[in-house]
Amino acid sequence: MRGLRSDVMSDAGRRCVITTSWDDGHPLDLRVAELLAECGLAGTFYVPRSSQRSVMNSSQIRNLSKWFEIGAHTLDHLAIDRLSDLDASAQLAGSREWIEGVTGRSCHLLCFPGGRFRRRQLQLVSQAGFQAARTVELLSIAKPSLVSGLHIIPTTIQAFPHGAFAYARNAAKRFSTAHFASVPAAIHSKGWTFLAEEMLNRAINEGGVFHLWGHSWEIEEQGEWENLERLLKMMSSCRKHSKSVTNGELCGYPRQTILRDLPLAQAASAEKTA
Ligand SMILES: [Zn+2]
Repeated sequence: MRGLRSDVMSDAGRRCVITTSWDDGHPLDLRVAELLAECGLAGTFYVPRSSQRSVMNSSQIRNLSKWFEIGAHTLDHLAIDRLSDLDASAQLAGSREWIEGVTGRSCHLLCFPGGRFRRRQLQLVSQAGFQAARTVELLSIAKPSLVSGLHIIPTTIQAFPHGAFAYARNAAKRFSTAHFASVPAAIHSKGWTFLAEEMLNRAINEGGVFHLWGHSWEIEEQGEWENLERLLKMMSSCRKHSKSVTNGELCGYPRQTILRDLPLAQAASAEKTA
């Protein structure tokens, strides 16, 4: 990694906000949580009750919720665009209630499995009690937008070595000229962390939201732990010029966690002695 350009180290950088989110609730999320805690970065974990892959058990999720925000990801990790309204509503409302039961905290946030939803289903999401929904829109440094009373949260970069075609396809879906402008950088990028660094520089320089998201199981499959750790350290080194927030705080909700800066290892031993 090349490090931040000196021209971005200005007061303008204070308008930059950094957030991270992690989908699917795989047990390896605990490794991500440890890295975030070491770097003093906030994070939101979107956890389904069950999935095609392993999911953390209730006590792991409850423990994680003391330091990080937990959002819903439907009950059974189902793409809601393929469900009837009745089934979609059951998956949505059920997952919010399940998260609240496990963590003992209110749950305002949803992430769509596979990023899939039909626009008219946003109403079902609101009716299920959610106030914000994270999408898989990439290469955005925009703040969440309000659609049908819901905060729709875009992302900047996924911790995954996508090819240029995937970025172009993602941008084309949004019909967004702003995103098309970012695609050449992606096409010529030398890997996802290089692109992440470009986007982080841009968020600091122009003001904006840098939102890193990923799947811990995918980071394991792709052998990306070292790259992730380097990027998180770089993000941490920008904390003077930015603010690290949860996805919920990004939408204006207060942080519910209280011990975020305490490393998980210490937290675990504190729990043992409690
Ligand atoms: Zn998922």
